[in-house]
Amino acid sequence: MKAYRFLDWLQPPELSDVPVPEPGPGEVLIRVGGAGACHSDLHIFEYPPGKRPWVPPFTIGHENAGWVEELGTGVTGVSVGDAVAVYGPWGCGRCRACRESKENYCELMATQNALGGGLGRDGGMAEYMLVPSARLLVPLGDLHPSEAAPLTDAALTPYHAIKRSLHRLHPGTTAVVIGVGGLGHMAVQILRALSGAQIVAVDLDPAKLALAAESGADSTVTSGQSAADEVRELTRGLGAELVLDFVGATSTIALAGACVRAEGDVTIVGAAGGEITWRFGALPPEVSLSNTFWGSGTDLIDVLELARQGRIRAHIERFPLDRVDEAYDRLRAGTIQGRAVIVPNAA
Ligand SMILES: [Zn+2]
Ligand SMILES: [Zn+2]
Repeated sequence: MKAYRFLDWLQPPELSDVPVPEPGPGEVLIRVGGAGACHSDLHIFEYPPGKRPWVPPFTIGHENAGWVEELGTGVTGVSVGDAVAVYGPWGCGRCRACRESKENYCELMATQNALGGGLGRDGGMAEYMLVPSARLLVPLGDLHPSEAAPLTDAALTPYHAIKRSLHRLHPGTTAVVIGVGGLGHMAVQILRALSGAQIVAVDLDPAKLALAAESGADSTVTSGQSAADEVRELTRGLGAELVLDFVGATSTIALAGACVRAEGDVTIVGAAGGEITWRFGALPPEVSLSNTFWGSGTDLIDVLELARQGRIRAHIERFPLDRVDEAYDRLRAGTIQGRAVIVPNAA
């Protein structure tokens, strides 16, 4: 089968021929119906060797959904043909965090040499992918795998980041979304679905701000010198209760700090590797600054339910597997609106 392989550090991935994997005991083979192209993959392609404890080669693609193709011995609870989303962070399944469904924070993750498919192990940019346990599969119901795939990260990650601050977002408050890419445009929709807060979207690109407005943002602000002032104007000079930074560059983290109000939350989700210098008074009093990583398995169940209810929907552009390079080139150039989804099998 064809698979888009990360062959080595600092090398562009390549479409290669590899055997269709065979499920061992407890494993499930998935016929991939959608694999989202995430901005964090572009960071992976540029990591210096050893930045992650992964051993290339492996297949890219950590936002996956498809149909159950074959069950390894002993697998119960799923059937061949079921449409499923693949929960992306593959923890040990047994530690306290995993038992709380937070495999994204598995206690053994630091000692494992992979985070999941596409992140050290073979991911979904292939005709088939192997999932180590049926525990990691969530039924899709009537959602199509190509629509559902991006929800497993592009919606799950902002859902988790928003949920932990939801108690701050009563009507009359403001949430700011910096960076309206794959995750940001879902964040706007999730804020709209879950809260009564005013939603302000910030980006450099007018097309992305238009997508934010279409996704439910009340106001859009062009990133730059005056962006923080504009957010303050929209919040009676007070600033926002929640600022989500989906870029994570030094400039966007600074903007987040300039937009947040006292007792607010700044949550950095984007992995651009920016820095902030903290000192007493650098942020308004009692601001909580944190970063989040992905979401829990139960968060994914919630996200898929929101999608089935029609309250969130990823804006996607589909690419066949043989055009995967083009999808990443356009993602790098900033010309993908919403999410690029690779579709190795249409049905
Ligand atoms: Zn991702
Ligand atoms: Zn664990």
